[in-house]
Parts: sequence; C-alpha cells; structure tokens
Amino acid sequence: MLKGKVAVVTGGTRGIGYAIVRKYLENGAKVVLFGSREETVNKALSSLREENSSWEVSGYYPNLSDASEVKEVIEKIKAQYGRIDILVNNAGISDSTPIDNYTEEQFTKVMQLNVNAIFNAVMPAVKIMKEQGGGCIINTSSMVSLCGQPSGVAYPTSKSAVNGLTWSLARELGPSNIRVNAVAPGITNTDMVAALPEQMIQPLINAIPLRRVGEPEDVANAFLFLASDMASYVTGEILSVDGAMRT
Ligand code: NAD
Repeated sequence: MLKGKVAVVTGGTRGIGYAIVRKYLENGAKVVLFGSREETVNKALSSLREENSSWEVSGYYPNLSDASEVKEVIEKIKAQYGRIDILVNNAGISDSTPIDNYTEEQFTKVMQLNVNAIFNAVMPAVKIMKEQGGGCIINTSSMVSLCGQPSGVAYPTSKSAVNGLTWSLARELGPSNIRVNAVAPGITNTDMVAALPEQMIQPLINAIPLRRVGEPEDVANAFLFLASDMASYVTGEILSVDGAMRT
C-alpha cells in the first residue's frame, strides 16, 4: 500500500510508533524513525533489520524541541531519499499530575513535546512536500483530546491542540495536495499501560465497549490507511481507534 513512499516517524523506537514503522515497512515504504536517544534508535533499527534484512530503515535522534536541529535532519533526509511523502508526528509524553501539584515547567514540558515539536517538524516537511507536489501528515492525538481526563490537564490540552493544528493545516494545505489527519487512540497496550497493576486495568477494560485495550497494531492500521492512496480524499479527520471508549 505504500510502495516507493518515504516516511518519517517520530517516536518510532517503541510502542505505537514502532508498530507504525513496522506496518509501513511491511507495506513497501522506506522509513526513517526518530527516537530520543542513540541507544534506543539503534536497538529499534537492529530488531527491525533482524526481522527483515530487506527493509529500508534508518534513524535519527534530533531534539524535537529544537526547531533548527529538526529542520537540519528533515533536510538531510530529503537529500538522502529525494523526497518525504509521509510525516508521522507520534512522539509524545503523558501526564497525570493533579492540578494542585502542577508546576509551570511540567505543563510546558508536555506542551513542548506534544505540540511545539509537531510544529518544528511540520515546518520543514511542508516546504519539501510543496516542492514535490504533495504529501501527507498524520499526528498522534488521543481519545482524551475529545473528552478530557480527570487529572494531568496538560496532556488532553496538548492533544486538543494537536486536533486544532490538524484541522487547520488540512484546510490550509489542501490546495497544495497535502493531506493532514490525526489518529486518536484509546487505551493502547504499550509499556505505559503494561506497567499498570491488574486491579487498575480491569475496570478500564469494563469501560471499553469492545472489552479489550487496543494493541499498537490496531492503531498502526489506522496510520496505514491514512497514509495510503485508499485515503486519497480524507483530510482534516481525527480518526478514533478506541473501541468506542470515548462514548
Ligand atoms: P511510548 O512511551 O511507548 O513511546 C513514546 C515514543 O516517543 C518513544 O519512541 C520515545 O522515543 C518518544 N519520545 C518520548 N519522549 C521524547 C522526547 N523528549 N523526544 C523525542 N522523542 C521522545 O508511548 P506510546 O504509548 O507508544 O505513545 C505514542 C503516542 O501515542 C504518544 O503521542 C501518546 O500520547 C499517544 N497515545 C498513547 C496512548 C496509549 O494508551 N498508549 C493513548 C493515546 C495516545
């Protein structure tokens, strides 16, 4: 479904991002994954290459909060691969601090990675996509962007901002043949959720109409659809992949 396309996936070293990278490779894309550290990027690259030595995958670890560093890496990828067809802004951190205990630093840290870092990657990527006649941007939002959460206000706030950015860029960039969408996962079985004790997991599962947490692959399938030509007329969409938990 993605044969010959070049994709950049931030936060691609584990969890949902890693599943997206695998899914894109399985479907014929060349993928550049980003992580926060050299060690985790190398670990992800080795396990992917071990799984299939013909997959074309490489990695970088730019500081996503540094606009000039991100721009430099995105331009390097364009020079290396000739184009960037798909940008997935997936890196993110969550937070569950009660409002009384928040610090300004904590709030800013979440906003910085979950929102500003997307802006930093979008700016140089859009320039490249416009020059090549089109492209596709997919952001990782969250179920809580649509309904909030009972503590950790920075996280749903940041993900609602991701939705705003997605809707607005879809409208602005449509005439340049650049589609912009987001995926809003519900509770997904990554390291974060696996660390929760059983007595916390079961009540959460009972609140999900499909009666299970999502797997990273469930979410990656939505990213595959949105990146593919099957979604050629889909833009400005926030696609929920949450087993209807938000309702
Ligand atoms: P994870 O913690 O397993 O992976 C996060 C990824 O982001 C990693 O690849 C990591 O390298 C990268 N990252 C973290 N901090 C970074 C930093 N400072 N600089 C650069 N990269 C950094 O998380 P996950 O559960 O796979 O989440 C991925 C995305 O999905 C996030 O945006 C998250 O908000 C969103 N999400 C997750 C869930 C869930 O239940 N797991 C639900 C809704 C949305």
